Amino acid sequence: MFMTGTVGLFANTAAFLLGLTCGSFLNVVIYRLPKDGLSVTKPRRSFCPSCRNQIFWYDNIPFLSWILLKGRCRFCHAPVSFRYPLVELTAGFLSLFVFQTEGLSFRYFFSLYFVLALTAIAFIDLELMVIPDILVRPTILLGLFSALATPYPPMMGDYLWLGLIKAGWNARLISLTGSIGGLVLGYLLLFMTAVFYKAWRGQNGLGDGDPPLLGLIGAFLGWIAIFPVLFLATIAALLSVAVLMAIGRFPRGSKQVASQPVPFGPFLALAALAWYFYGHSILNWYISLFAAEF
Ligand SMILES: [Zn+2]
Repeated sequence: MFMTGTVGLFANTAAFLLGLTCGSFLNVVIYRLPKDGLSVTKPRRSFCPSCRNQIFWYDNIPFLSWILLKGRCRFCHAPVSFRYPLVELTAGFLSLFVFQTEGLSFRYFFSLYFVLALTAIAFIDLELMVIPDILVRPTILLGLFSALATPYPPMMGDYLWLGLIKAGWNARLISLTGSIGGLVLGYLLLFMTAVFYKAWRGQNGLGDGDPPLLGLIGAFLGWIAIFPVLFLATIAALLSVAVLMAIGRFPRGSKQVASQPVPFGPFLALAALAWYFYGHSILNWYISLFAAEF
């Protein structure tokens, strides 16, 4: 659904601002969740990580405050990481794009949660090389629930979806089947890869959090997304390592490369976003090449 005119402008602005606000909370999640003893809700007010002073509400306005304070703390003038406005802007634009994809519907809110969870996971993995279960597990449950609550044809692939509908299947059942299929396929695929890699090389080739993350992506996007997302993420990760090597930011030599950990989570998250926004149309285009034969 694409809204135009004044109503559309208002709705799109609202979606952007909602995302920006969520991004502000996302920064709290990214900073506090992986650290033991720091709750997301307590203390309620944000504080400066350097001087521990509480941040005034007017210094905590997403993106704007960072610009106005020129990226520094009001009290101790310690630089405030560019990650904060970056996460906020990312969340704002993601919310806008999800809104333009889904329109004002329950699926907008489900999908918004999904893309924001991916954003948090990507930033946490990038910084700390962990993917917190406490973030992944509830998101998997929400993915299964959203499939049941708002039947979603891309979950199964439109073509198969139509076939099953014609065969008399219930739409919710097809959607949930696609979601559970994605969860199981995504999890098992990376879990088995990790097991085989360990048996072969005698060391961990994947993080513990990567199989559940691909499972989560499958729970939201359906089994049909698993192979393209894994393929895209692998290509993106290899390209990034190649670029880092070329500019001398990554150790050369096969031994060092094998032992140098690269977080895979951000690449899975990026690939999932790409598939969420474009996969559906690419898949339909691809199938239309053969559809005449069916
Ligand atoms: Zn400070």
